[in-house]
Amino acid sequence: MQHGINGSSRAQIIPEEAWRYHLKIALVIPPVRDFYFTPQRASFLGPALLYDEIVREGFECEIFNGCSGKARRTQLPVELSYLAPYRGKEGFFKHYYRFGKLPAHLAGGILQWKPDIVFISSFAFCYALEAIEVANALRDAGYCGPIVFGGAGVSAHPAYYLQHTSATSAFVGEADTCLDAILRNPAGAPGMWYLEKENIISSASVAAKEFRPVILPMQRSSGVQYYSGMFTRGCPMKCGFCSSRLHMPGFRKASLSLIKELLEKTAWDKKSHLNIEDDAIVRDFDYLLEILYYYKKCAGGNATFSLENGIDYRALNKEKLKALAKQGLTKLNIALVSIDAAIAKRYGRTVSLDIFSEVVEAAHSHGIPTTAYLIAGLKGDTHEGVRRGLMFLSQLPVLIGISPFYPVPGIQDFEDRHFFDTISPRLCAGTSCYPWHDISTRELVELFCEARSINFSRREKNRYH
Ligand code: SF4
Repeated sequence: MQHGINGSSRAQIIPEEAWRYHLKIALVIPPVRDFYFTPQRASFLGPALLYDEIVREGFECEIFNGCSGKARRTQLPVELSYLAPYRGKEGFFKHYYRFGKLPAHLAGGILQWKPDIVFISSFAFCYALEAIEVANALRDAGYCGPIVFGGAGVSAHPAYYLQHTSATSAFVGEADTCLDAILRNPAGAPGMWYLEKENIISSASVAAKEFRPVILPMQRSSGVQYYSGMFTRGCPMKCGFCSSRLHMPGFRKASLSLIKELLEKTAWDKKSHLNIEDDAIVRDFDYLLEILYYYKKCAGGNATFSLENGIDYRALNKEKLKALAKQGLTKLNIALVSIDAAIAKRYGRTVSLDIFSEVVEAAHSHGIPTTAYLIAGLKGDTHEGVRRGLMFLSQLPVLIGISPFYPVPGIQDFEDRHFFDTISPRLCAGTSCYPWHDISTRELVELFCEARSINFSRREKNRYH
């Protein structure tokens, strides 16, 4: 039975009450193909939030995680063949992998469950092909119901997903905050894009003021139970290279009462560690401290946490580090981005190496390991310029996370999304080391290897001292 995408055709197929009780919604996480990925670290908080919301609304829901399972070596895609000469170079990647299931196997499992609607999550545009392959595999296997794409990758370029599949629609924004609108009248839901007689119809997305915080149990390692949590959305800053604002515009905070309720009902372990995945939570430091205070109260005095998402060091200082250390911070990830003030300014950022060093030294003095991220390949970057950044970081007690620049449709310099219609989304992965601006692939690979070599020497040094 074919289900229509708009509310009226859906209502014609299933009477309202039956629809409420019998609607089965599959949430699908596609596999990933890349040189590197850590599925056990990937929390997929978006699908988890949507799952909760669907169940809360009274529908039946199942998450099909096509990204779990063993990594398998696979052929380097032809569009990445320019990387073949660098494979196996010391410090660079050797093999290309598929993390997760084959699309046809995944589709088979989904269809056995007999869903009425399939939501496919695409958390990054560089993995758009994997999401599209799952949609196509579902169609090939005979599924003719609605397929809705969503996630950060889709928010960046929804038309791409519609143009490459026979999916019914693509959703821009935060689906968990307007689920009712999506299910009741998909065609009229804010942020929904769909095809009508070859034309793309879309409505503007809305950033909800209210949303739920989320905490998910993750892997267990060395006797510690890990959790991932997110309490805020978006970021008040507007760094030109960052795609955060495309999916989650503005900076919004979940209410403290909802967070306390969530912290109280989470089944904490004797040894718990919370990975805080927010982009900008340190921007409201009192709010963060209040969350941490309740976290310790619920999870116990020994509970620890980390700030995972390349936090903006400019929002920190040594007093704040002291307060965070007291609350159990055991791992800090901060983004330096660039040491070149002119390049940073072009992207709407400032640089303060003094503040950066103060934050790093403060973390070090409290015994908190820090990873500092540097982007290589911004417009105006040169090989020598990025090397200066590497040398600066090599003098500090940090591990270096080097991120080759990659564009996301809609960010600064890549506002024209049509540009992405004719290239492979895979080029937009950081690991693809594609020469988007002024640094060549060879130089990007060299910088990447040099950063890893500095990290390796540092680890060796620490081992013997
Ligand atoms: S501070 Fe970080 S999250 Fe915020 S816009 Fe800049 S890069 Fe993005």
